[in-house]
Amino acid sequence: MITFDEAEKIVIQTARQLTTERVSLENSMGRILAEDVFSDIDMPPFDKSAMDGFACRREDLANELEVVETIQAGYTPDKTVGPGQCARIMTGSVVPNGADCVIMKEYVKTVTEKNIRFTGKDTKDNICKKGEDVCAGDIVLNKGVCIGPEHIAVMASAGCDKPLVSKRPKVGIMATGDELVEPGSKPGPSQIRNSNSYQLTSQVAESGSIATNYGVAGDTEAAIDTLLKKVVAENDVVIVSGGVSVGDFDFVGKILKQNDFDLLFERIAIKPGRPTLFGKSERNFCFGLPGNPVSTFIIFELMVKPFLYKLMGCDYQPITFIAPLAKSISRKKADRDLWRPVALTKDGEIAAAEYHGSAHINALCGACGLICMKAGVSEIKAGEKVIVRQI
Ligand code: AMP
Ligand code: MG
Repeated sequence: MITFDEAEKIVIQTARQLTTERVSLENSMGRILAEDVFSDIDMPPFDKSAMDGFACRREDLANELEVVETIQAGYTPDKTVGPGQCARIMTGSVVPNGADCVIMKEYVKTVTEKNIRFTGKDTKDNICKKGEDVCAGDIVLNKGVCIGPEHIAVMASAGCDKPLVSKRPKVGIMATGDELVEPGSKPGPSQIRNSNSYQLTSQVAESGSIATNYGVAGDTEAAIDTLLKKVVAENDVVIVSGGVSVGDFDFVGKILKQNDFDLLFERIAIKPGRPTLFGKSERNFCFGLPGNPVSTFIIFELMVKPFLYKLMGCDYQPITFIAPLAKSISRKKADRDLWRPVALTKDGEIAAAEYHGSAHINALCGACGLICMKAGVSEIKAGEKVIVRQI
């Protein structure tokens, strides 16, 4: 059995970046940028007024000033501001030559129709200098960025209206288990509802990939083989839930091998999620995740999600924060990395969330994240700072 860190390394090294495509800015949200973006202009493109007010010379602040013109955003000033002069100016307008500051309208008294006086004591320049944010030719975004609204704004202002992004992996999800019924049905005495297919479909979609739910295969080699062939034919990545452990009806590993998958590992020293397998074939990648929903959830978060991002050329960074533990957590056996859900107390401390084990999916809903006790660590003491991985 390999450690989680070794398994993670194998998974990330196996990922090959998919091809790229150009999309419109409107369709680029959540996509991974596949080339650096340069600005073709200075930002701001000219000395720009940050206020509505009057552009003038700082040395004239004590004097009454003659208003020589009105400058509106989108227009070029006609006049140079000379001694004893000013120009009425709007936010976003070009600061006229001669002026070195803009006094705010709020600190100006109108003396006559053509004359004003500054009533404040001092003023900032209130000028955004040409090129102070970005110079023409600067890289404004690096490839590998996961595009959010702020990146879209930067691309729009840099003149990049069709960003090159990685294609989204197509991910097919199949569940296995004779005990499974779909959420719309009432389970019989020995049945449970299939939650993993829906959880995984949404985890995949949230990770920027294209998810398709292929439903459930029964626990026979033939049923798994038939559905697997279809999922493989139509996707880049296959995620199989359940049937990957050592039970008499856990056929997934065997069927994957029969379908030309080279399994790079079949067990990891992690709790929950030990019977996790990962493989590749000539055209596809596959994950087999243990059926218990918390295991499925956590292994997806820790391993499948970074893999999907890597297929798009992005090094996924989870959101984490550090807080002190409210009460000691200990365990008897420390042979595996242990992940467990935690909650934030009202004092800003981290407490173990009520958690009955890897079938207890409800435990994740009240949790703020997960903490890890590495293999070999059997206690984290109250007051110790822990890293919480947000979910
Ligand atoms: P398995 O990995 O197939 O041995 O399943 C482990 C546990 O997870 C069993 O209690 C299964 O009933 C449960 N399980 C398997 N698949 C699902 C699923 N799709 N949704 C919810 N629970 C599941
Ligand atoms: Mg099963």
